[in-house]
Amino acid sequence: MLRAKATTTSRALLPARHQLLKKFRARTIRTSAVRLNGGAPFDPKAIERAEDEVDVCIVGGGPAGLSAAIRLKQLEREKGNEIRVVVLEKGSEIGSHVLSGAVIEPRALDELIPEWRTMADHPLTQPATSSKMLFLTKNMSLPIPHPPQMGNKGNYIVSLSQFTRWLAQVAENEYGVEIYPGFAGAQLLLSDSPDATDNWGRKVRSVRGVVTNEVGLTKEFRMKGSFEPGMAFRAKVTLLAEGAHGSLAKQAIQHYDLRREAEPQTYAIGLKEVWRVDPSQYNAGTVQHFLGWPLDSQTYGGGWVYHMDDGLVSLGLVVALDYKNPYMSPYRELQKMKHHPFFRALLEGGERVGYGARVLTEGGYQSLPKLAFPGGALLGCSAGVVNIAKIKGTHNAMKSGMLAAESAWEAVQAKAKNAEAAEAEEGGETTGPPTDMTGYDTAFHNSWVRDDLYEVRNLRPSFGTQLGIWGGIVYSGIDSLLLKGRVPWTFKHHRPANAADAMTDGTSSLDSALTERAEKHSPIEYPPFEPPLSTDLMTSVALTGTNHAEDQPVHLRVVKTRDFVRATQGLNGDGATVNAAVGAGVGAVRAEAEVGAATEADVEEERRRREEHVRVNVGEYAGLLERACPAGVYEYVDVEGEGSSEGTWNGKKLVINSQNCIHCKLCDIKVPTQDITWTVPEGSGGPKYTVT
Ligand SMILES: Cc1cc2nc3c(=O)[nH]c(=O)nc-3n(C[C@H](O)[C@H](O)[C@H](O)COP(=O)(O)OP(=O)(O)OC[C@H]3O[C@@H](n4cnc5c(N)ncnc54)[C@H](O)[C@@H]3O)c2cc1C
Ligand code: SF4
Repeated sequence: MLRAKATTTSRALLPARHQLLKKFRARTIRTSAVRLNGGAPFDPKAIERAEDEVDVCIVGGGPAGLSAAIRLKQLEREKGNEIRVVVLEKGSEIGSHVLSGAVIEPRALDELIPEWRTMADHPLTQPATSSKMLFLTKNMSLPIPHPPQMGNKGNYIVSLSQFTRWLAQVAENEYGVEIYPGFAGAQLLLSDSPDATDNWGRKVRSVRGVVTNEVGLTKEFRMKGSFEPGMAFRAKVTLLAEGAHGSLAKQAIQHYDLRREAEPQTYAIGLKEVWRVDPSQYNAGTVQHFLGWPLDSQTYGGGWVYHMDDGLVSLGLVVALDYKNPYMSPYRELQKMKHHPFFRALLEGGERVGYGARVLTEGGYQSLPKLAFPGGALLGCSAGVVNIAKIKGTHNAMKSGMLAAESAWEAVQAKAKNAEAAEAEEGGETTGPPTDMTGYDTAFHNSWVRDDLYEVRNLRPSFGTQLGIWGGIVYSGIDSLLLKGRVPWTFKHHRPANAADAMTDGTSSLDSALTERAEKHSPIEYPPFEPPLSTDLMTSVALTGTNHAEDQPVHLRVVKTRDFVRATQGLNGDGATVNAAVGAGVGAVRAEAEVGAATEADVEEERRRREEHVRVNVGEYAGLLERACPAGVYEYVDVEGEGSSEGTWNGKKLVINSQNCIHCKLCDIKVPTQDITWTVPEGSGGPKYTVT
């Protein structure tokens, strides 16, 4: 079975899978026979998976996950007990899915690797030398006072993608962390029955690791000759470090109601380009932030320009996802921004070398969920640690990873020492009582990360009033210059009147609920593109190197998250129907019905959901996703006749060009119907960022 796996993986996946399989052969693992039924429908209940047992499984090889891995291995070195730490990363390489501004504070790095400045190949080669704030009108750029938090003395301008790659090398070469790119965490592995008490005193099943994605399914959920089931990584501690709006983190948040006492998370989309500018325009170390044009006064956001090392300039636009007008296109706003005289001068004679987009969390301190759940924890931007006044989250993400590592270390040691548990551990060390990570939550709230977020907690919500950007600028000016967060109040995030209906399960998005119907707005006329300064979307997407294997299940499921989790949870053995294809289309669910994993009622429900999606999104929101997705994935196309098997409304049907997806997660957050659930595609697909 393992040999079959090795010969059938995609080329991009091969090195990582070979490496893992070598380890598997060296270790005795519980494994199973895989039947290669070319063309047979996928039967989730008949699948037996290869399993591996680890102490700590970290999902996500970004700054948070890698910092956690390094810290765990440092503790191993300091204290002498061996600990097995595995990092799973969905990108084909570490860093290939990481996108950020990025000016970073080295505070956490100084704590994690104090000697980093003496390391020959570190990528923090460009210190920030100056920092300015400008207000743009259509033709002018006016200097405005710089809030103290936005000072960048001692900070560095980097490509976070490259920084993450370097951190992974340190983790692997210096500390022996096992890192597996091309492995996407697809499903939480839960205990068979309730064995833990959650934060709210409920008896719940605990997290016992993760299952990676199946590889080699067709779009219709049939097994190709190359089919391999996902692997089960059983772990004493599972750390979710997937970045903003992680797909497993979202499931954990729902499953353990981690947001019960928190404000909803709020988000922005950041679109980034990297340019090699004309030398006459290049000023290494310059940091500039912009407010105002092209965004209207009701939309929170702004632009940036960072002069990186080596003649490169990072520029981009952040647009808060609570924007009201469904006709808005964040991509077109970025292209328009470059038509400003300031940007024309900067980019004249330059060449664009990179493009990408990713959501970032904006909710801050009051939107932090409970960080621990039975058997694991949320790290970094999966919890939401961006200080939006600084537009920085990397330092907090790294520190949260380090703190989680320290608690995970204690938890693993305690488990090992627990003689009673050891006796009960007949099937291996990952059984027995679930690990308790609540110490991490406490440590986080006693750390400088909490202080960093607490001080600026009222700034972002102050922009949510009827006074729009002006109210926010005035309040934020006073707070950041004088009050510095030392006030007894904490603002809530702005809510729409229908928030109670919209926010029922802790995973539905406040930003989506704040979107207004198209009838309240007019279409926006954007200026024509002026290549090479501004280009159409597909020209930009080509720069991301995005690729997904052909004919695989659509990973953008048309189903609400809570329904997706309910339908797929049976994978973990609770006896529920296991409809792994839910949301992937009528054909996919029909294939599962052939093997009894879904019913004809599920097939009809799949069709009805799509029809309802099109009715609301086209009929009421003018097809918002067509403009909002920064990779052109969604289209509402004309079809002949009503009632197609895929679910049409008013002569329109939804087409999802999932192969273009750059994993930004916007659609899952902003779709007015809250019925797009982003799931992981086959590992190693997606963007291949190198300079973002
Ligand atoms: C446009 C923009 C500008 C920003 N500017 C700055 C800035 O200037 N300075 C700053 O400090 N911060 C900035 N930030 C924030 C910063 O990027 C984040 O705070 C930081 O990246 C968070 O680190 P993380 O490790 O939590 O998540 P990420 O960096 O997002 O890393 C998560 C990793 O997990 C992987 N992953 C996700 N799901 C899975 C899965 N299921 N299975 C396997 N792998 C998975 C991803 O592929 C990724 O590699 C910016 C963010 C954006 C979007
Ligand atoms: S499909 Fe969704 S996650 Fe993918 S690029 Fe578009 S908005 Fe982002």
